Parts: sequence; C-alpha cells; structure tokens
Amino acid sequence: MWNCRVCGLDYDASPWGPAENEPDHSSCECCGAEFGYHDYSVEAARQYRQQWLAGGARWYYPRLRPEGWQPEAQLRQVPEAYW
Ligand SMILES: [Zn+2]
Repeated sequence: MWNCRVCGLDYDASPWGPAENEPDHSSCECCGAEFGYHDYSVEAARQYRQQWLAGGARWYYPRLRPEGWQPEAQLRQVPEAYW
C-alpha cells in the first residue's frame, strides 16, 4: 500500500517503484500530481497540495471519484513527512 504524498489517495503499488527511487511520472488519479515531479520533495508536495486544495480539490479523473468521497479523511493518509 502506498499513499499519494500530495492528496493521500491509496495505491496498491508505489509509482516510485519498489525501491522508491524510480518514479514512473504518471499522474495521481485524484489530485493530478505527477509522481517524480510534484511530489519530488516535501516543499513540492506542499505547494502542489495547496494549489489543488485552493482549486477546490477536484479529481483529475472525475469519473474515478468515489460516491461520498471524504477529502479530509484521505488527506490524513498523506505520509507524515510530506505534510
Ligand atoms: Zn494525489
């Protein structure tokens, strides 16, 4: 289990690869962050998160947004080091 460093969405496998050092540069389904770029550092993740929240926390792929989605609960899953 891996959680997006920006929005906290959970993934079965890390987009950063098994050793957490080879990002695949795909985009988070929820916040749209590009893995390896927008979550490259704590500062980058914070900055992108602020932008995303300021823009209304929209899903990058709106059709994947679960019914009754709880952004606050998901944000609590952001790895502490990236908050
Ligand atoms: Zn995300």
